[in-house]
Formats: sequence, C-alpha cells, structure tokens
Amino acid sequence: MADTQLEAAFQAGASTDWYGILSSMPFIVALLAALSCAAQTADLVVIHANIYTGERSRPRAKALAVQGGKILAVGDDLGRHVGASTKTIDAKGATVVPGFIDSHGHMRGLGESLENLDFRSSKSSGAVAAMVAKEAARRKPGEWILGRSWDQTQWPGSEFPNADELSRGAPNNPVFLTRVDGHAAWVNRKALEMADIQTATPDPAGGRIIRESSGRPSGVLIDRAQELVRRRIPALTRGQIQARLVRAAAECARLGLTSVHDAGISAEDLAAYRELVLSNRLPVHVYAMIRGEGSLWEEYLRRGPEVGEWLTVRSIKLMADGALGSRGAAMKDPYTDEAGNRGLLLLRKEDIARVGKAAVKAGLQVNTHAIGDRGNRTVLEAYAEALGGKNDHRFRVEHAQIVSVTDMPMFQQYSVIASMQATHATSDMRWAHLRVGPQRIGGAYAWRKYLDLGVTVANGSDFPVESANPLWGFYAAVTRQDQQGSPAGGWMPEHRMSREEALRSWTLSGAYAGFEEKMKGTLAPGKGADFVLLTQDIMTIAPAEILRARVRMTVAGGRVVYEENP
Ligand SMILES: [Zn+2]
Repeated sequence: MADTQLEAAFQAGASTDWYGILSSMPFIVALLAALSCAAQTADLVVIHANIYTGERSRPRAKALAVQGGKILAVGDDLGRHVGASTKTIDAKGATVVPGFIDSHGHMRGLGESLENLDFRSSKSSGAVAAMVAKEAARRKPGEWILGRSWDQTQWPGSEFPNADELSRGAPNNPVFLTRVDGHAAWVNRKALEMADIQTATPDPAGGRIIRESSGRPSGVLIDRAQELVRRRIPALTRGQIQARLVRAAAECARLGLTSVHDAGISAEDLAAYRELVLSNRLPVHVYAMIRGEGSLWEEYLRRGPEVGEWLTVRSIKLMADGALGSRGAAMKDPYTDEAGNRGLLLLRKEDIARVGKAAVKAGLQVNTHAIGDRGNRTVLEAYAEALGGKNDHRFRVEHAQIVSVTDMPMFQQYSVIASMQATHATSDMRWAHLRVGPQRIGGAYAWRKYLDLGVTVANGSDFPVESANPLWGFYAAVTRQDQQGSPAGGWMPEHRMSREEALRSWTLSGAYAGFEEKMKGTLAPGKGADFVLLTQDIMTIAPAEILRARVRMTVAGGRVVYEENP
C-alpha cells in the first residue's frame, strides 16, 4: 500500500465521523491491510542493503521484506517480520534498485542470437570453420547450423571464403552463416546440395551466386541469392520457440531485467509464452505487443486486455516507417546525404487512426514504431484523431528518434508516451547528423525535451539490435557517451538524464507504459517483489564504473531468478 493512501485513510478518520469511514470501504481495506502487515512473517528478507526505492516518500532504506511474491515492508530494521521460515539474504552493503524494465525488446530475436554462432570477433575464415566444426560435432546429422556477423574484410587477404572449408568439419549438416551486414551468406556444400544450387543454376533476380573459375558455386550467396538456401531452413517447432524464449528470458534475468515489453509477437509466440507461464518457466514478466493487425489482434479487440502477473497482452505494435541507418525512416524533407530520398512511410495516417479508435473502444493500447520526423508526425496526427485530447490510453511512439521540435508538444497534448532507447543514441551519434543535417538533429534522440514537457519517457534497448544490458542503457542515458567515454562531455549533452531520471525511465516509467505502475517500478509495500542486487552503487559511482557494475542477484515476483554465485 502506498504511504499516501495510508495517510489519506488516517486523515479521513480525523476529519470525518466513523460512519463516513465505514461507508468508505477502500479506506477500511487500506487500514486493515496496514494493521495486519505489522504481524506478518516474511518469506524473504534482504538486510544490510543500500536500497534505492524509487519512492519519493521514502527514497532510501536498508531492508526489504517479501511475502507471497509481493513487498511486505521496506525499512531500516524489519526484524519483526523475520520468523523461523524466513529466508534472509545479507546484502553486505550491496545496492538494491527496483527490477529494470526494458520497454522495447525482442525476446525471440534475442534467443535466436544467443543460440546461433556469432563470428563478430573471428579473425579468419579458418576460425569460423573451426567453430562450425565444433558445433557440428554436437549436433545430429541434417540439423541446420546457423551463424552471423562474419566479415571477410577483417581477415588476412580479405577474400570471400569457400564452402569446402565449412564442409570439412561439417559434411553432414547444412550450414548457413550471414555476413555482418546481412547482405551475403556463406554456406557449405550440404546446404548448396539441399538448395539444388549447381554450376548450371542461374543467378536469381536481385542476387548473385559467387563462383569458382570453373563456374562451380563457391559457397557465397549475395543478396536475393541467399533466399535459395534460406527457404530450406525449416520453421521452428513449438518446443524450439519455447527454448529460444526461455534462453532469452534467462539472459534478461542475468542482466537484472525483471520485466520485458516484447515488441511484436505472433500467435505462435503467444502460445509458447502461455505454456511457459503455466509450467513456471518464465523468469521475467512479459508485456507482449501483438505484431500488427491480423487475426490475433482481432481476437483481442473482441476479448479486451489479458492481464496476468507473468504475461500481459493489451497492445498492438505497428510500424510507421523504416530505420535511419538504411534511410528508410520517413522524413518531411529529403535526407541530407541522399538528395530526393524522403524514406518510406509504411502505414497511412488513416490506418493508424482506425486501429487507434478500435483500440480505444476495446481498452487496448497502440505502440507504433516511428523513426523519422514525417513518420512521427503521421503517428501523432493519427493518435490525435483517435484520442481527441488528454486521456489515459497510454498510446506510445516506439523510438521517437527524429521528431520536429514543433511536433513534440503533441506528445503532451494527447498523453502519448515516448518509448526511447538510450543506446540507440550512443550507437547512431557518429553518423546521425550526416543523415539529417544540423537543423533536424536538434530533435534527435531528444529525451530531455520530452521530460521537460512532462512526457513519460520509458527506456529500452531494442535487443538484440543493442545489448539487453540495462546498465549499459542507464550509462548511455546519463552520459550520452560511448563505452570509451567519447565524446568528452557527451553527445548533445543537454539531453543527459540525471541518475534519478535514468533509473525512473528504466523502472517506473516502463511500468507506467504497461499500465503497471501500481504493481511495479518502485519498491513499496504491496508492489510486486521485483528487485536487483548490484555490486556497485550506480547512483553515485563515476560514470565509467557503471559499465563495470554487475548484477549479483535478480528477484522477480519474489523468486530469485538469477544469482551470480549461487
Ligand atoms: Zn524493435
């Protein structure tokens, strides 16, 4: 229960007659809950901790008691809640913060990236082939081996590799490895055979099969030619989808995330999630967005929000435009570095407004990806049409990357949430100004402007596009620097968040963006027991030290879901 509610109950008692109170059931319930708290025995107590609660009324504490998955009490000495059955964790001075909430990630993508081989740091084709051979040794014949991010320009000679090199260590498993930019794939002989790519096979439209001097395919497929092999890769089974989600969720728990907003799920993802929740195998809370219009969305328009402790479905994810790196983001004026190109609008304003109106009627939320200033303006106009004015439907713009400063007040006027990713700013800062020029850059990754307007800024990572590590996101939010500390003072440093603002954006604001601020986001009695023990005090250490802080323990719903040294 929030302190303010409690105060209200007592104040009501002082100023009103008892009949008035009795007739006001919420106050009575609040009062009884407060009285019964005092005697309750906790399941779990954390002591000797340096706690940041995120609550304005009681920002700091030393101990935390948990019962039935919820926070029972927060204070300095909670000995009164310790009984014979209570598990006590001595934090030994460790810092405790509310569990981090990533408001925009892709769980299946993260699971896939953890499952598949990563060649980002491989220094030769031989090193890649050796990793593949090792993987083949532990797989059944015929099972696909997938990998990504090889880059021949990082290898001696900078030559494209050959299928034979992979086939030597993996003769019986098809192998498909994408290049760092996704525009080429390196495959082995088995994969070429399965795709029936032979000397006589012509290059497909928009693609190229690299060949040896004899005309024999060498094993590297460019652009559309990749599809010849890719379409042979079997679709995932329910079990494989679950395995990926579990792997991703375990990684999130390891990094201190207790809630993830999964930005775009399919019906099969949802079925997999449901089974994981039923079998108690989901270590983080998932707030799922339905990927686009379709039968799943129509089902939820009929049934309304599905709210659960571990899985909530009450929103749709739409895509208004593309991305800035590939110049697909929709701009009002052409890109500064490509004359005539204004990017691509993927949805019309009318379509977004139509979805918005249906969502409002059904009590659902709309979360639309918008990167360019035209994309953002379009979404905001559509939202304005669907919402009419101030409201509590909490529609969100995902990314809100480049927005005209004059359009920003619309976020405030229509109660729209800016769901932003701090590490996108620090990844894109080297080239973003080349795309949009000196004037438009003023509204780029401009989270300070939203905060000043009173707009909720929920933070996230867009993993696996960026690392899922919320401490890296927290660091980026407070420094606007890369991990080497450049540029000095930060890129467009006026947007840096204070540590309090950054922590809020990674906790309470994420909870608010999912209608869950009464259940999570701060450490207060009655809220879910979602918190993290950190090796260092991220609210006071030097910025560079934040990157070295580690998660010692993650607790979600009162369960220890990760422990560094169990
Ligand atoms: Zn995304």
